[in-house]
Amino acid sequence: MKKQSLSIHEGYEKDNQKTMAPPIYLSTAYEFDSTQHAADLFALKQLGNIYTRLMNPTNAVFEKRLASLEGGTACISTSSGMAAIFGTIINLCEAGDNIIVSSGIYGGTTTLTDHTIKRLGITTKKFDLTKVDSLEKLIDDKTKIILFESLSNPTTVVPDIQTIVNIADKAGVITVVDNTVATPILCNPIKLGCDIVVHSTSKYINGQGTALGGAIIDSKNCAKKLKNNDKYKHFSEPDMSYHGLVYNDLPFPAFATRMVLAILRDIGITASPMNSWLMTNSLETLYLRIKQHSDNALCVAKFLTKCQDVKVVNYPGLENDKNHKFAKKYFCGEYFSGLLSFDVGSLEKAKTIVDNIKLFSIVVNIGDSKSIITHPASTTHQQLSSDELNKAGISEGLIRLSIGLEHIDDLIDALKKVIK
Ligand SMILES: *Cc1c(COP(=O)(O)O)cnc(C)c1O
Repeated sequence: MKKQSLSIHEGYEKDNQKTMAPPIYLSTAYEFDSTQHAADLFALKQLGNIYTRLMNPTNAVFEKRLASLEGGTACISTSSGMAAIFGTIINLCEAGDNIIVSSGIYGGTTTLTDHTIKRLGITTKKFDLTKVDSLEKLIDDKTKIILFESLSNPTTVVPDIQTIVNIADKAGVITVVDNTVATPILCNPIKLGCDIVVHSTSKYINGQGTALGGAIIDSKNCAKKLKNNDKYKHFSEPDMSYHGLVYNDLPFPAFATRMVLAILRDIGITASPMNSWLMTNSLETLYLRIKQHSDNALCVAKFLTKCQDVKVVNYPGLENDKNHKFAKKYFCGEYFSGLLSFDVGSLEKAKTIVDNIKLFSIVVNIGDSKSIITHPASTTHQQLSSDELNKAGISEGLIRLSIGLEHIDDLIDALKKVIK
């Protein structure tokens, strides 16, 4: 089936009540038929529900649907996008390991990888997303992850995914792609050879800014890379916390299985079923919304290029944008998302625009049906030093827009009043 149909039907099988919308199962735990039944479930001799920290039928509908949209083998929903990224890192790394992270990515991912995991003994090396050849020499025996965004927030860089995949495959290192901004409608990193996809579902997937969530999607590529690979021995050796289970020997996707049995079990970064239900419903309109967000954003980008105040407009949908080539190559169609940024040259000018614009709300979110304006240097990226800001490609005059679903005439009118 095509994406439009998958996003409406996949993953939901009606029960006796025949409800058209998937039910919300608000239950912390599930009853066992007998001690033997319970023992079989815990031993994975039989699959079934145990406790919501590990699995929930409402979450499962969303997970199956998103896995199918990404072309993955399994999906684990999490409490937030940051939870998905942290969970992925600790599913693969231990103290002494390092990960390679692209520059210019989401602020929370930057602080997590530069500071928080460092305290756990996992260090981070940076690579320039626009010069992916530099990646190869950064990889060593202890490198466990190459992490990047398919369309980076807020710099809207689309990397040369194929070259990254080639380098990672040669070294046997797992690629983790944050596909939040592109969404599975625009880009399917797994189909391009990447191993793990992570999402903040709080953004475009939710679409209305009503719930926080995240997701991790496993793939056949990842299963292959985990097998017979000294880097990820803990997938081939008995897990003593799970009576000697060997993940690579199971008939299930190894990465996702360990994610549930070890990481969700011990860390509890599980999605709320209420939120998963909202996300499932939101997926039904994702395709249409992305199309409209993209059409609106392209019009806004074209308008901004004609403004005197504007030094530069970053939007991969513009033909002369430096990211247009790879967006054309790696994205699924002629849409390029609702995210764009532009530089007005100075902090003062940026502040005046952000403080005076109508219709756009000053909010640190993206992917909402309502248009949003952000000044990254003073908000999402405030915790970065000026050196880190430079490296991330974020200048003081940079303004980020998340273009919503309002009528384009009203959006342009609002911009015209504050930008010459
Ligand atoms: C928002 C965002 C995150 C973090 O997600 P939360 O759901 O807010 O925790 C991670 N990556 C990207 C690209 C984001 O935009």
